[in-house]
Amino acid sequence: MRKMTVAEAREKNAIGQSALLQGWIRTRRDSKGGFSFLELNDGSCLANIQVIADADLPNYAEQIQKLSAGCSVSIEGEVKASGGKGQETEILATGVVVHGWADAQEYPLQKKRHSFEKLREWAHLRPRTNAFGAVARVRNCVCRSIHNFFQEEGFLYVTTPVITTSDCEGAGDMFRVTTLDIDNPPKQNGTVDFTQDFFGKPSYLTVSGQLEAETYASALGKVYTFGPTFRAENSNTSRHLAEFWMVEPEMAFCTLPDNMDLAERFLKRIFNDVLQQCGEDMAFFNQRIDNTTLETLQGVLASDFVRITYTEAIDRLERSGHKFEFQPSWGHDLQSEHERYLTEEEFAAPVIVYDYPRTIKPFYMYANDDGKTVRAMDVLTPKVGEIIGGSQREDRLDILEQRMREQDLDPASYWWYGDLRRFGSTPHSGFGLGLERLVQFITGMANIRDVIPFPRTPGNAEF
Ligand code: ATP
Ligand code: MN
Repeated sequence: MRKMTVAEAREKNAIGQSALLQGWIRTRRDSKGGFSFLELNDGSCLANIQVIADADLPNYAEQIQKLSAGCSVSIEGEVKASGGKGQETEILATGVVVHGWADAQEYPLQKKRHSFEKLREWAHLRPRTNAFGAVARVRNCVCRSIHNFFQEEGFLYVTTPVITTSDCEGAGDMFRVTTLDIDNPPKQNGTVDFTQDFFGKPSYLTVSGQLEAETYASALGKVYTFGPTFRAENSNTSRHLAEFWMVEPEMAFCTLPDNMDLAERFLKRIFNDVLQQCGEDMAFFNQRIDNTTLETLQGVLASDFVRITYTEAIDRLERSGHKFEFQPSWGHDLQSEHERYLTEEEFAAPVIVYDYPRTIKPFYMYANDDGKTVRAMDVLTPKVGEIIGGSQREDRLDILEQRMREQDLDPASYWWYGDLRRFGSTPHSGFGLGLERLVQFITGMANIRDVIPFPRTPGNAEF
């Protein structure tokens, strides 16, 4: 008998076929007429399929009538046209095998709806709920779309290391990796002797694959990395995780405007794919989570991203008359309330802010001639704020080294990064997109902890 997913069996063209379906029971309802309705879900789509189990089935009284939410079953039967509302098909069961029972008194997802906060304590069970199943499918669609986009545009996928010994953006925000005995570390002149550590020097979990990606872009042209990144920043917000996934394209012979074009094309491609391929899940988010999400995505697809300099952004914020908790001021990073004001009120569209003050951006961003700004760009979206941060990279060795010294970094320890400028330097650019921020924006889920399977935040890491 052909194995079929619920998604397949719900298609009209399955009518008349015999099928084996396997999944978990969502509900059981017994009819007076001597049969039961089982709602079966297998994760292949949001919807369940209705199974009709007749009292004639040999294990009807003993097993089928005891089925409850969470039980796992194999159903053999025939796909029939259904007269029921919201379904083209249903299954008339010829056999029901129970694999695993789920005690109705003990199973946490039995009946009542739980809050997302509560479900975070059950990271092992929450994928069985409608919302988390839908997030998982949309996240999968986004990941596929990311790879498809870059592969079709001729980028090479490069994996960069998770463990690093270069503390690119400040060791303060990095998780240390060590095999030293923390109760009794070896010491030299009163400080820990990292020459005795696993790698012979201090090592950390990466905060970004960018610097390593630059080495491959400097040989292969257009590359991207896509992997987990780690930030030990103590930000307990709805948009920060300590472990998140980042996509980082890096392109040789590419300036900031090209970089912006790529970012815009890239995001639109993903939004388009999700709308095409995840219609049912997106309808669910629009109905249950955030009733502006479909309209927002369609609006974004139909519009051009606004592009303004940081200086103009500050100017507009200052002149807005809007009451901010933190007053915007030139030389300080945009707060999330500023990002939201620009994208939600001022422009009602995604906004790319570029040319930021050099003092608030890392050493590797290209210094503009004005002596004050660097060629940085952030893509801001309504609700979520920054989802992409990028820049044209500094490709002039002398200026790069000067910028390192300004930020108390030792050019000698970045000798290999300097070599990329010493030998065959090119104008090059790239950006980092936070996967979870993107999935948050697409789904309208309010908290970033609910768009990654196993969230890690300060004080929290459930198994
Ligand atoms: P923010 O200012 O929002 O904290 P950032 O400027 O520190 O972010 P970048 O270093 O520019 O972030 O990282 C690139 C992208 O990675 C960001 O645009 C965002 O989408 C994502 N990102 C950064 N930090 C986090 C985090 N802690 N959790 C989830 N995503 C993040
Ligand atoms: Mn940023």
